[in-house]
Amino acid sequence: MSECKTTWHILGAGSLGSLWAARLARAGVPVQLILRDAERLAAYRRAGGLTLVEKGQARQFPLDAQTATDPAPIQRLLLACKAYDAEQAIAGLAPRLADEAEVILLQNGLGSQDAVAARVPQARCILASSTEGAFREDAWRVVFAGHGHTWLGDPLDLTPPPWLAELERAGIVHDWSLDILGRLWRKLALNCAINPLTVLYDCRNGDLRQHPAELATLCDELAELLHTCGQPAAADGLHEEVQRVIQATAANYSSMHQDVAQGRRTEIAYLLGHACAAAQRHRLVLPHLTALHQRLLKHLGARGLPSH
Ligand code: NAP
Repeated sequence: MSECKTTWHILGAGSLGSLWAARLARAGVPVQLILRDAERLAAYRRAGGLTLVEKGQARQFPLDAQTATDPAPIQRLLLACKAYDAEQAIAGLAPRLADEAEVILLQNGLGSQDAVAARVPQARCILASSTEGAFREDAWRVVFAGHGHTWLGDPLDLTPPPWLAELERAGIVHDWSLDILGRLWRKLALNCAINPLTVLYDCRNGDLRQHPAELATLCDELAELLHTCGQPAAADGLHEEVQRVIQATAANYSSMHQDVAQGRRTEIAYLLGHACAAAQRHRLVLPHLTALHQRLLKHLGARGLPSH
């Protein structure tokens, strides 16, 4: 049972970080939040803890918190920031990571995971892909908006870690995946087919049903890319799944649409940007995907939002 006592250090008390922290703490697992700086730490302490709202019920968790400058070693770290913050965040914590530490990466898209792994060669990096949904209602207050599933995996070591039982007890519905990269690529491809178009047409997911030819062409190019990148399973039935997702989430605005509408930085560099960079590396010409990327970059630029 000794692994049950390992503290989960959780960097980023945002939507997903808070969702994990609250559920782990509720299950009796020791949790330590790592916040951005002394100012954020003071604000957190004034608030008295994190609040999770689930099924309309709010509960506050007065979890321990610190900043990256705390000297205590870290055995297990959940990196719960955005993809564009991940490399800098891990660089600040690398000296504290114990030999054979584990780092669990919750970032969407691809690209940030390799950048993080390169910074912490002493650690085992476990990648995650989640369909759970949460959002920040207020400072230190997160709403569990959509139950989902989390896949975890390690492309370099297929052995599941012993703490999956802790996630089970915490009610974090998950599976150990033997092909986590395939899952991340598939999710990236779905995102590339749907999210940029919802931004450019300023529409809900369901409205993309009015653009069937454009979607079909993008799915063809994405499938070609996945094959070239050695991910044929992720290409299988992509177009059909895109159509299913659009149907099932017809009334929703995509996460990228929400980010742009609220003037927030997007994770474009780790989604469509990553796809286009991979195509270029393989000298694969994907005109529609490239044009989509250019249109999206222009759209973001016109709104003062970064391209990376
Ligand atoms: P979020 O709500 O913006 O939270 C990110 C948190 O990271 C923020 O609290 C931010 O702190 C913190 N942070 C960034 N750099 C830091 C640093 N150096 N030190 C300490 N804290 C730092 O983001 P999210 O929605 O949880 O998303 C995290 C990842 O999960 C993204 O890649 C996202 O695509 C993915 N994801 C999210 C959901 C969802 O429903 N939210 C679902 C699936 C996947 P500040 O508050 O100080 O800015």
